[in-house]
Amino acid sequence: MKTMKVSVVTPDGPVYESDVEMVSTKAKTGELGILPGHIPMVAPLKIGAVRLKKGGSTEIVAVSGGFLEVRPEQVTILAQTAEKSEEIDLDRALRAKERAEQRLQERKQENVDFRRAELALQRAINRISIAQRKI
Ligand code: ATP
Repeated sequence: MKTMKVSVVTPDGPVYESDVEMVSTKAKTGELGILPGHIPMVAPLKIGAVRLKKGGSTEIVAVSGGFLEVRPEQVTILAQTAEKSEEIDLDRALRAKERAEQRLQERKQENVDFRRAELALQRAINRISIAQRKI
């Protein structure tokens, strides 16, 4: 099987680096599946899962947006935050979800805070789904 190098990098440092057979994730324009030799491109990512297929198993990394850069033998994901599925603290994500939901219910907020709470909720739901392997 052909492979390509994949790195997931955040402002706090690298989170994942490995040779994989396929990368799939959600770009803002839709689902992306990248195989070795893919044409170069850059795509903005949604809050979501990055799936990394390798030797019959799939690893999942949660990302909260960012960019994916493809070169023929290298894929780089630059994300604001990223966690490997096994490193997600499920209780923390559940607490973050509850906090965000509470904020969204207090409707007296400024719109900016509302958007912030919505994004926090999306990040929490993403982490919970990945930690529980529901996506
Ligand atoms: P919280 O309110 O729990 O901090 P958040 O969505 O606001 O959640 P972020 O700002 O996205 O948190 O992330 C801050 C840092 O904490 C990042 O390094 C991120 O990888 C890490 N992080 C956030 N939530 C979790 C989690 N549930 N498990 C592991 N790491 C997490």
